[in-house]
Amino acid sequence: MDKFFFKSAKINEFRLWGLIFTMAGMGVMILGTAGIVFWGQAGKIIAAIFMVIGMISLLISVIVYFWAGMMSTSATMLECPECGKPTKMLGKTDRCMFCKTMLTLDPAQATHLPRETTAASESNP
Ligand SMILES: [Zn+2]
Repeated sequence: MDKFFFKSAKINEFRLWGLIFTMAGMGVMILGTAGIVFWGQAGKIIAAIFMVIGMISLLISVIVYFWAGMMSTSATMLECPECGKPTKMLGKTDRCMFCKTMLTLDPAQATHLPRETTAASESNP
């Protein structure tokens, strides 16, 4: 599944992106401030630009964190069939937060179905 960047659960992935944007935002702002030291007057303009980029990055991280929080409330709680730990799923397909096993609610995408499969999904090959 190449739609997963880090081969982890979507919630964990969102948290990771949030962290990346926070770090990038702070890094850019520090770099911008350092510009004043290195380039003096010209550095101030660069610092201002970097400050804005940093602020945008931090804003994105807040949105990502907020979005992750919103999504985790609507996530499906289920017990992972592989490791037995309670995990959260976003959408129809997601990875287990603990053992990274691909989990799906869509019988058409399932590679193997659980034993308690009902007649509804038996029509699938
Ligand atoms: Zn698991």
